[in-house]
Amino acid sequence: MSLGCTKNLIDSEVMLARLKGLELTDEVGEADVIVLNSCGFIDAAKEESINTILSLHEARKEGSLLVVAGCLTQRYQEELQAELPEVDIFTGVGDYARIDALIEQKMSGFSDQVFLQESEERVVTGSSFHAYVKIAEGCNQVCSFCAIPSFKGKLHSRSLTSIVKEVERLVAQGFFDFSFIAQDSSSYGRDIGEADGLIALIEAVEKIEGVKRARILYLYPSTTSTALIDRLASSKVFAPYFDIPLQHVSDSMLKTMRRGLGREASFALVEKMRAVPNSWLRTAFIVGHPGESEADFEALCEVIASGVFDMVSLFGFSDEEGTTAHDMADRVDAKTLKARLKKAEKLAKTARKKRLKAFIGQTLPVVIEGESDEHEFLIAAKHLDWAPEIDPQILINDSDVAGLKPGQIGEVIITDATDEQLIGRFLG
Ligand code: SF4
Repeated sequence: MSLGCTKNLIDSEVMLARLKGLELTDEVGEADVIVLNSCGFIDAAKEESINTILSLHEARKEGSLLVVAGCLTQRYQEELQAELPEVDIFTGVGDYARIDALIEQKMSGFSDQVFLQESEERVVTGSSFHAYVKIAEGCNQVCSFCAIPSFKGKLHSRSLTSIVKEVERLVAQGFFDFSFIAQDSSSYGRDIGEADGLIALIEAVEKIEGVKRARILYLYPSTTSTALIDRLASSKVFAPYFDIPLQHVSDSMLKTMRRGLGREASFALVEKMRAVPNSWLRTAFIVGHPGESEADFEALCEVIASGVFDMVSLFGFSDEEGTTAHDMADRVDAKTLKARLKKAEKLAKTARKKRLKAFIGQTLPVVIEGESDEHEFLIAAKHLDWAPEIDPQILINDSDVAGLKPGQIGEVIITDATDEQLIGRFLG
């Protein structure tokens, strides 16, 4: 079972590949070995991970092995070992290639705490045509609210050769749509002497026959160059997709949050991205960080309501040990934080609705995902440029959809929009 972000999902897929010899089951009560890849990013994720561990323990059969891997165990291994005797094996992040050996050792009576080695093999889950590809691990930034660098370590870029090899292998398995991810993707290569590593990556991936569409997620403002924006704008393979979490918009908050770039420079990038034809802009904001005044919050609301971003994700500030924000005074009280988050969410919902309605009448390139979770007579599709799961789905409500297969590329004319999704007719 995999919790948390897509980076965690890749680690889970690496582990799955190492356990290929075992038969997979979704039935916890039948499993001899249960592996949970946990998330420890914020309080809510920690709580979800711990609740999942406890419910897996309750449902497991006697004699089975409960393995907990991932961020939560990396971050709180000692505490968890003391608090959760239900767990048989704790492992950390990053190096999963020895999960099979570790389980074997435990089953044959060895007790060991080992952090696993990374493998290049994966069993991709969730799609027959799209795969996430991790390009780096760790982060060199010092964002006030984030504990990730404290447990994932400094930026460690994967070599271009290794990335290309993985993409080629996935293409050979039938995958053609890729999302490249890291904690701070725009810093890719800086630790291995490549100032504009992402441009080199784009050029290498463009040469791989069989890659039909790709996008890069998680651009950090201060390491995103205008040359990168230009290169993405001119690429025939990479979508003009800009996922740039700004976290806030006021100069004082950007400084307090140690984001490395002020409002003017951040919005100069946003403007340049917006000017790229057919660009899609995503951002994320944190509401209620220590030091956020009413005026800072109003400035944030103004940007959300302006609709300059196609998609906005919002998070309430989560106080994390080991971060600089943890020791900051001038805190926003819980009631104010809740009210601000609610207001921001309402504005984001209205802006999103307006943005989606603007697609009505347009013809969009799509790739068929399969039967919709909403209704068996609806087929779900993804805009070819957009990312799965986080961007709006396109539901096809034709009566004649029986022949559509996952991975099929075509065009859809948008006929309607809900709060979260687009509805359209498949044109072929
Ligand atoms: S860029 Fe900031 S928020 Fe993202 S992982 Fe690095 S420190 Fe955390």
